[in-house]
Amino acid sequence: MHIVLANPRGFCAGVHMAIDVVDQVLDLHPEKPVYVYHEIVHNKHVVHRFKDRGVTFVEEVSEVPEGAIIVFSAHGVSPAVREEARQRNLTAVDATCPLVTKVHSEAIRYARQGYEILLVGHADHQEVVGTRGEAPDAIQVVESPEDIPRLKIKDPNSSKIAYLTQTTLSTDDAEVIITALKQAFPNIKDPPSSDICYATTNRQQAVRQIAPEVDVVLVVGSKNSSNSVRLTEISANVGVPAFLLDDVSELKDDWFHHVPDRGHGGGPWDARVLLTAGASAPEDLVAELCRELLNRWGGKHGASLHADKTLEQRDVFNEDTEFGLPATLKKLMREKGIDPDSRRIRVGNYDLTAETYGAAPKRVALTVGGAAGTR
Ligand code: SF4
Repeated sequence: MHIVLANPRGFCAGVHMAIDVVDQVLDLHPEKPVYVYHEIVHNKHVVHRFKDRGVTFVEEVSEVPEGAIIVFSAHGVSPAVREEARQRNLTAVDATCPLVTKVHSEAIRYARQGYEILLVGHADHQEVVGTRGEAPDAIQVVESPEDIPRLKIKDPNSSKIAYLTQTTLSTDDAEVIITALKQAFPNIKDPPSSDICYATTNRQQAVRQIAPEVDVVLVVGSKNSSNSVRLTEISANVGVPAFLLDDVSELKDDWFHHVPDRGHGGGPWDARVLLTAGASAPEDLVAELCRELLNRWGGKHGASLHADKTLEQRDVFNEDTEFGLPATLKKLMREKGIDPDSRRIRVGNYDLTAETYGAAPKRVALTVGGAAGTR
């Protein structure tokens, strides 16, 4: 088996920040129960690890006792949720990703200017629910081109129609929907800059670029993680089967059975595999999967492992985006005499050692985007 690690993969700046926020709140107030509204990020392991540390996840603000601390997840919340937290006298720490906040701000601005807003995204996704809540009377959700005839638009030729998108859509699918919207509403306004975030775009571009060279794509991520599911779809779009798995326990041998004999008996022994992860998937799960793949099928059948031939990392974009901590958390830290800057967790590179991944990956620079990853 030959394994290619996609770079970038896994945690984005928004997820790093959101996890950091819950970590810091737990450290600041070990004596108080901490509640998180919705999953902090859409990853089963991240959520379970916080549950093990005493965090309670809730789907309704009314589940949180008055006066407690509540953290809003990276996906953002509607103003109604913020108001309910205020009325319950909760200390709200907002871990919404700033790139989601940007879409909220666009929705508010367009609504104030009297636009009819079409929000391209998945209606039941937490992020879309939150964005829609900013201007429920002005926003309609569009999930596919088939939704367009059902939209209630006063005048299709009006110049007061705008579209926005969920941050974690497939860029391929979004393009199809946006093209259809532009045909139906010729004067529709684009967002000031793409709402699909840099992390989603970069991870999808890496898969789009590398997948044609491999037999199978494995995406580490949870089933409810929009950007993880989109990575499997991008792979399928270029004709390569892709599988989403939460961790190594879900790995299946028969995913590789179609691989032809290239000299080692075919199947997993001859497979070329691209390994990537959604923006909410922790890197230790990727490393564990990598070790297991190398352990089972990394060498020639019955022969020893040749690390330089079996594992490589393709660097498609080098990301260096970081987000600061939310203002409420900084205030809580200062109240405890802690300088927020002294507690910043820096986004770092992967620790590409043989000990972590099962073999030391050879690095192949394929950077296509210059300064991509910063916006
Ligand atoms: S995927 Fe994008 S929008 Fe979502 S948290 Fe990460 S950076 Fe923010």
